[in-house]
Amino acid sequence: MEELVNRIKEDGRILGDGVLKVDSFVTHQVDPVLMEAIGYRFAEVFANAGITKVVTIEASGIAPALFAAKKLNVPMIFARKAKSLTMDEELLTSSVYSFTKQVTSQISISRKFLSSDDKVLIIDDFLANGQAAKGLIELCQQAGADVDGIGIVIEKSFQDGRALLEEMGMRVVSLARIASLQNGAVEFLEGDA
Ligand code: 5GP
Repeated sequence: MEELVNRIKEDGRILGDGVLKVDSFVTHQVDPVLMEAIGYRFAEVFANAGITKVVTIEASGIAPALFAAKKLNVPMIFARKAKSLTMDEELLTSSVYSFTKQVTSQISISRKFLSSDDKVLIIDDFLANGQAAKGLIELCQQAGADVDGIGIVIEKSFQDGRALLEEMGMRVVSLARIASLQNGAVEFLEGDA
């Protein structure tokens, strides 16, 4: 997606350890116009898949997932990282190791929001080692829901996430694919959409 790639070139900052900082438009301050375009692109790609729910993980997946859900005319559910006092229902839970924070956390969704009738599109901001997406797939599987695809805003293709998800039989659609963050430069592969 050209707009996204251009924005990463302009405003992305490379941190050590293969981390890309995009806090001026995705992960802290959010550009609603770009997020809408991203969400709508995912909706276009999965328009004929019969999606009934868009599932993401708090916090930075919410903006693109919400716009995709709006365009697909289905609800968006975000998995929560901290158990809220108001989540008193039965929960679907899985553990996710965070690449950036280097801690394992439990993520959960109330069982009442996903069922075996659902066809799910999972959306997340980054794909690195695939642990966040895998955790979300597990939550969907616990509910008996089908996962039809995974929409990623920024894939770091030099890490193993895509291979892990494809081995699980998942269709991965990444709008920006980064080949390398070495030597202070962002090198891109051709994106999927
Ligand atoms: P994974 O579970 O695929 O290893 O990592 C995905 C999660 O880690 C994303 O939800 C995102 O929050 C975070 N993440 C991974 N790599 C990066 C990165 O380079 N930059 C930022 N900002 N977040 C990242």
